[in-house]
Formats: sequence, C-alpha cells, structure tokens
Amino acid sequence: MGKLVMGYWDCPYCGNQGVAGNVMNCPACGRARGDVRFYMKDGAESSVREDGETGDIEYLSEEQAKDFDAEADWYCSFCNSLNRNRAAFCSNCGATRESSESNYFDQLKKRQEQEAAEAAAQPAPAAQQTGNTRAKSGRKSIWLWLVLIALVVGVFTWMNGNKTRGGLLVTDIAWNRAVPVEAYKEYQEEGWSIPQGGTEISSSTKLHHYDQVLDHYEDVEVQRSRRVLDHYETYYTYSDRGNGSFEQIEHQRPVYETEYYTETESRPVYRSVPRYATWYVYSIWRWKEERIERSAGTDHEAYWPDLNLGENEREGSPRAEEYTFTVEEEKEGRSTWALSEADWRNIQVGDRINITTKRTGADPWITDGQGNQVAQIRRK
Ligand SMILES: [Zn+2]
Ligand SMILES: [Zn+2]
Repeated sequence: MGKLVMGYWDCPYCGNQGVAGNVMNCPACGRARGDVRFYMKDGAESSVREDGETGDIEYLSEEQAKDFDAEADWYCSFCNSLNRNRAAFCSNCGATRESSESNYFDQLKKRQEQEAAEAAAQPAPAAQQTGNTRAKSGRKSIWLWLVLIALVVGVFTWMNGNKTRGGLLVTDIAWNRAVPVEAYKEYQEEGWSIPQGGTEISSSTKLHHYDQVLDHYEDVEVQRSRRVLDHYETYYTYSDRGNGSFEQIEHQRPVYETEYYTETESRPVYRSVPRYATWYVYSIWRWKEERIERSAGTDHEAYWPDLNLGENEREGSPRAEEYTFTVEEEKEGRSTWALSEADWRNIQVGDRINITTKRTGADPWITDGQGNQVAQIRRK
C-alpha cells in the first residue's frame, strides 16, 4: 500500500471549488456531495513524479487516513449523494446502501463515455478551415505556375533571337587538304611478352610486382563499449481511490550506462614478396604514320596532295580538309569562317554576304536578303 494523498472536489450545485475529500457537505451551499470528479491540488493525478519531486504532495496524516475507506464511495439512487463505503444509509436522505446502483467509478466511466460520444458527434470546425486554406493555396500555386511559364517562354524567345550583320565583303577564300602517309618499317620495342610477328633480340629478369603474403598473426588491443545496468530509479504515479483520496504508486525504472573495456584481437600481418618475370627486347615490322602530305590554295581549285609513295609506304587515315572565307567589317575587323566544300564553292571574293548569329551560341548561318538560312558556318 503506497502513501495516501488528499483529494479535492468541486461542488456541482454552487460551483464552490477545492473542497477536501473527507468533507461530505459543501461548506458554501451546505448540499451533500453529489456527482463529482476527485483531483489532487497540484494536478499530479494525471502525471508522473520523479523521486525527490514530491515535496508539494499533500500526504494524509494517520488521523486523516481513518476518514477514508479502502473501497470507492457509492451513489444514492434517490438523491445522487456520494456516500462513504462504510455508510449503510444515505447521509442525505436515508436510503439504503443496498438500493445503490453505481459507485464513484461506475458513474465516472458513464460520464466519460457520454463526453466522448458528444465530442465525436460535433462537426469539427478545424477541418472546414483547413479545406478553405487548401483552396486558397491551390489558387496561389496556379499563379506561380503561370509566372514561371511566362518566364521560360520569355527566356527561350530571347535566346532564340537573331543578330544579323549585313553586307559583309568577302576578301579571301582558302582551302587546305592533308593526307597521312604510313611506312612499313622494323622497330625495336620492349615488353613482358613478344607480340605476333616479333623477333627476340634479348631478354632479362626484372621485378614484375609484389604479392602480399600472410606472415604471422599479432595481438592487438581493441577498445569496445557496452551498455550495462547501473541502478534503478524510483518514480511515482497517483491512482484515484474513488473516495476523496489518492494512492501514490511507486515504480522502478532501470538506468543504463556505457562501460568501456579492452579486448585482445588477433590480426594478420602481411609481407611483400617480389615476383620476377622475363622482360623482352624484340624487333617487329609495323605500319606507322611517317609524314603528312599537304596541299593548300586561295582559289576554288582544291586538289589532294601528291603522296609520293616510296617502297613500303601507303596512304594512312583519316584524310583532312578545310574550306574557309574571310570577311572585312568596319567595326569588328577581319574574321575567318569555315564551311562545307559545297557551300564554299558558291562564295566568291568580292561577294557581299549576311551573317546571322544566335544568342544560344549555336553555329551561325549565312542568310539571304529575306533572312533564309543559306549555309551553316563556324568561326575559325
Ligand atoms: Zn455547494
Ligand atoms: Zn440519498
């Protein structure tokens, strides 16, 4: 049996508050204690108290404890007075204890069920408000989307915007062509093996790599931690006895702490062992690029260079070619542009052309008087 604590009640008839649990009639209006709910002065009946935080709890003296029975009080079926368990007759109207249909807990439970049912039947005004807010925020996000789309369209239009420089004078045209030439020759090479077609010249033993080989095990001290029970601590809850008093219930909870300890662990130790292999020097015949033959000009007579193939020579790849023209501008000076051979053949020195560049940085175009794209070009 835990310590007993004084309970209090409020008069349901006149509203007088904080009447001690062992007082059977309201000191303000004089009526017998009716339908009440007992509570503790500090609200501790609904919470947990740590050990050492019970200084303000109002424990009953031995003398006071005698005022309370072990059992809950009973309700009079005729006048609804709440009588002590020991009373055989209602202190208010004299009805017998046998005719009672409920005690304190029965009535408390009934009242709580009624309150829960009422709360469930009420339409929740908070939910309506939430719906309203959602509709408003939905409208806001549509506006946000519209602004975003307008912004994207705007940026795209601007990026696509063209800038045309017109009437540029073509001052030069030029072409360049190049063809690689390969020669079949004997080369001296080295390696861990001789490829197909190679002939060994010499060989030697060389360090190839190291292997990690288990040598022995060694003991290592390792720090570890574990959770261990340190002690138990006490806390209290309070139970309504249904008669104007509460009982303090003692509980224990475990308190753990982290313990550190060292453990010996066996770990492998490795040793580096050198591995050797044969290193070859060999000769081998190979096709390799020997030189590049070039041709160039400043007219439209582009031709491939004469390869002048010697013995054991052949054309390599790839062939390379480039066709350019140069324009003169007052502001920006001379600039040179490259383009396809077919488009280049349509450009003559002395022509006036328009060059249209895009803000996106894509390759510019030669455009005609109507802004149509005639030939794609790129700056040199
Ligand atoms: Zn009263
Ligand atoms: Zn009665």
